[in-house]
Amino acid sequence: NDKRPAYKRILLKLSGEALMGDLDFGICPDILARVAREVSELSRLGVEVAIVIGGGNIFRGAGMAQAGMDRVSADHMGMLATVMNALAMQDALEREGKFCRVMSALKINQVCEDYIRRRAVRHLEKGRIVVFAAGTGNPFFTTDTAASLRAIEMNTDVMIKATKVDGVYDSDPMIHPDARRYERLTYEEVLTRRLGVMDATAIVMCRDNDMPLRVINIFKEGDLLRLIMGENVGTLVER
Ligand code: UDP
Repeated sequence: NDKRPAYKRILLKLSGEALMGDLDFGICPDILARVAREVSELSRLGVEVAIVIGGGNIFRGAGMAQAGMDRVSADHMGMLATVMNALAMQDALEREGKFCRVMSALKINQVCEDYIRRRAVRHLEKGRIVVFAAGTGNPFFTTDTAASLRAIEMNTDVMIKATKVDGVYDSDPMIHPDARRYERLTYEEVLTRRLGVMDATAIVMCRDNDMPLRVINIFKEGDLLRLIMGENVGTLVER
């Protein structure tokens, strides 16, 4: 088999929900193990893998703020939730036999490494999987924006957003069964049609820095690998 991966370095954005599976809250061990297996497979093929992990399966800042909590404190809690998910992913990747480092945008350096760009690049070059935790380290941002930022900083070939659906649709496919999936979109189309791919800040970051974005379904086993091997999976968002 002489097929080579189509990408040298990728950033994979996993939402908290991607670890939740069918549960209402928290981490589903089976899903965690399955995602870790798929990710380690890419790494074994020689692809450098960086991951940004969300926290919505544990805590979302905006929700608590709506219920009256101070938004900044709520967002601090949300960022800490992403650290928990990152530690779970690190453990699952290590059980797959891969070396992995969690790097946090907030300093919690008895639990994981602090985020330092040059160290993160070095880990990737050595074939370690890097899991970025605590989003951007700032309240009022999302882990999608953190994913755009880290993809740009790490100079990855693509940013892959793994969701519950197999791409971007013209309406919510969970509600409208006749919703149509786009194969390709421009950043501008995503913004003007208000397609809920990611928040506008995250899209604009990709647009202004020419970072191609792929939206795929993490629950479809094998799609991630097929994308990495050059197949046209999910929706591509580019210039
Ligand atoms: N968060 C934040 N700043 C960031 C990234 C995340 O304050 O740069 C907080 C925010 O409260 C958010 C929570 O962390 O609700 C979890 O992140 P997100 O909702 O993006 O997770 P996902 O939807 O990907 O599971």
